[in-house]
Amino acid sequence: MATLKIKDVKKAFGHVKVIHGVDIDIEDGEFLILVGPSGCGKSTLLRMIAGLEETTAGSIILDDKIINKLPPRERDIAMVFQSYALYPHKTVRKNMAFSLQLAGTPKQEIEANVQNAAEVLDLTPLLERKPSQLSGGQRQRVAMGRAIVRNPKLFLFDEPLSNLDAKLRVQMRTEIKELHQRIKTTTVYVTHDQVEAMTMADRIVVMNDGNIEQIGTPMELYDTPDTLFVASFIGSPAMNLIEGHMNASGSFHSPTGLDIQFGGVAPKAALNKEITIGLRPENISTQDEGLSVGEAHIRVVEPTGSETLLSADLKGQSIYLLDRNRQTFSAGDIRQLSTIASDVHFFDKASGKRLPHDTE
Ligand code: ADP
Ligand code: MG
Repeated sequence: MATLKIKDVKKAFGHVKVIHGVDIDIEDGEFLILVGPSGCGKSTLLRMIAGLEETTAGSIILDDKIINKLPPRERDIAMVFQSYALYPHKTVRKNMAFSLQLAGTPKQEIEANVQNAAEVLDLTPLLERKPSQLSGGQRQRVAMGRAIVRNPKLFLFDEPLSNLDAKLRVQMRTEIKELHQRIKTTTVYVTHDQVEAMTMADRIVVMNDGNIEQIGTPMELYDTPDTLFVASFIGSPAMNLIEGHMNASGSFHSPTGLDIQFGGVAPKAALNKEITIGLRPENISTQDEGLSVGEAHIRVVEPTGSETLLSADLKGQSIYLLDRNRQTFSAGDIRQLSTIASDVHFFDKASGKRLPHDTE
């Protein structure tokens, strides 16, 4: 078990700065996910934790010990890669035993650890197979088995599910989460997939261009995104964003002619400003919820069974709404839309920073 502290860590490749000073405190037993678009620096940060890249500045502290000058072998960390990196000519058993053999672990202990990891991961019947005789999901589990046998202080995962098809990805998501619930090893997991991050993480770190945008639990990021970036990155279908001006009396006006009268429920921080309002698709209703958003033309109706996604035109503004009440819609319908004032997100248009409700 272990805590991990990342303190003002920076990384440059030559003149190119890619991580600009990152601080993260990871609790013992926590499952922390780094998420962000491709190229934002997730793998670089993970590789610095593992010791595969040098840190340009700052420190990485595992259980009160600064580790970022130590070689990877001495860090007591195991990493699982997207490509699995299994030895093709070795059996599952030998793949799993290899790192322990290198470390000079006694044979009996190796046997016991491999047996134990195989049981935890449901690999016992597959121990004598070679990687080529396994499915993608099974290979993924062997890669995890190799990490588990070492009983490390910390697990690192870099997009471990990217090579699997959609259905298997969902299944492996559950398996990894269940595994973590059982063995509780502190974990840092990298993905570009916000759904993966939402479903698996205790806490999520949203990264953008080498900086941290926000750290929080999945629901904190969903309910109170600190920035426009987080608001649009977390959630699928994405939050609707509408730019406009909020006057002193809480009347919002967009350039396309949309008017929303917030009145007294407009946050004080949002008055007299160029702002962006954010509305999650499920927070827009065709029933009266109290705050009128305007009249919309339904353009496309996409039922999935449990819910229906509607694409609509709201005074020249293209928006999505999600209906979970099994209402009947047709393309061409005209509907009055409304929302609950406390469900609306407000952001400063220039800085992208959240403008909190007066109650927040
Ligand atoms: P992510 O994993 O979030 O997709 P990476 O950490 O792989 O992003 O990359 C972050 C940035 O650092 C990218 O702009 C990438 O091109 C750059 N980068 C990564 N590795 C190297 C390297 N060895 N040399 C130069 N630039 C690199
Ligand atoms: Mg990467």
